[in-house]
Amino acid sequence: MPRNATEKEIKQAYRRLARKYHPDLNPGDKGAEEKFKEINEAYWVLSDPERRKLYDQYGHAWRDVHAARRSGGQWGEAYAGGPQDFHFDFGDLFGDFGDVFDFFFGSGRTATRERVRTRAQRGQDIEHEIEISLEDAVYGATRTVTIAFDDVCMACSGQGGIRSACPSCNGTGVADYNREWFSIGAPCQRCRGSGSVVTSSCAGCGGTGKKRVARTVEVRIPPGVTDGSKLRLAGQGGSGIFGGQAGDMYLVIKVKPHPFFERHGDDLYIEVPITVVEALLGAEIEVPTKDGPVKMRIPPGTNSGQVFRLRGMGVPHLKGGGSGDQYVRVKIVVPKSLTERQRQLLEELAKTMDENPRVSMPKSLRGS
Ligand SMILES: [Zn+2]
Ligand SMILES: [Zn+2]
Repeated sequence: MPRNATEKEIKQAYRRLARKYHPDLNPGDKGAEEKFKEINEAYWVLSDPERRKLYDQYGHAWRDVHAARRSGGQWGEAYAGGPQDFHFDFGDLFGDFGDVFDFFFGSGRTATRERVRTRAQRGQDIEHEIEISLEDAVYGATRTVTIAFDDVCMACSGQGGIRSACPSCNGTGVADYNREWFSIGAPCQRCRGSGSVVTSSCAGCGGTGKKRVARTVEVRIPPGVTDGSKLRLAGQGGSGIFGGQAGDMYLVIKVKPHPFFERHGDDLYIEVPITVVEALLGAEIEVPTKDGPVKMRIPPGTNSGQVFRLRGMGVPHLKGGGSGDQYVRVKIVVPKSLTERQRQLLEELAKTMDENPRVSMPKSLRGS
């Protein structure tokens, strides 16, 4: 904006700035508050033809004249009723602009409201949980899932209706409120400073700007996926508006507990029952694995609770190849009842096995 900016142009620039830095719109932002103060002070000079004339005349000598004003010099009159604590360093308002005046007169640094409102916006990301079996987690799977979520209404681009200029502020977004020594602009309360209001509800969404959609996607579950893993489906989230790209969909994996296998990291754990005789004499038993039953040797003299490892029979590592292990914990199952013959044999046996297994325990704990 040139040095001969009109009153109207200055007012427009002021309003744009005041709206941007207004404390109500920047709660807790000290920088904005400071800037807002400076803008008001600058406007106070520029908006008054008399004051502006004096400024034009003195330009760089601002500080000197400022001092003169304080001591009742020729500026005294021009500044009668001005801000008590005038702290803004004006520099040269129309030459070497300060930051604030750059905003005042430099166009293009602040986007117009129209551009802001129709700027491309990326769709929202959505997240959804899907439950899979341990088998699917181990081997991987392809699943088709349908996920319902609230997308933006495309009929109104999420606006809820047709927007038109706010009648309270004539579309400027700024309402004038009289404050002490001059009238300052504050964000219009009706349109919250946006300059526009929704005047007719969108028939597509009833004015909410949202629409429930159900999206069916095919998702490939990689082998080795863990509980809590997030799978990203690019572009399957909420729709973008004003040309923005769609958001992403994230599927959070929940692995259902398995009736027999337990998973810790990439290792699988299973408990397998064995008989007393198998434990005593040793045996080759079949144990379930993720790939079906395999033969496993139980050495003679195996205790209940002993754990055997089947190397590489666990879950494939999600990254880096290879697999975890499977651990087999054996549990000796004692028959509930015996035949007469079995009882006799065991009694015979007992006579040959008179070793006390509690011999290593202190006498005070084991009694006799
Ligand atoms: Zn308004
Ligand atoms: Zn709509």
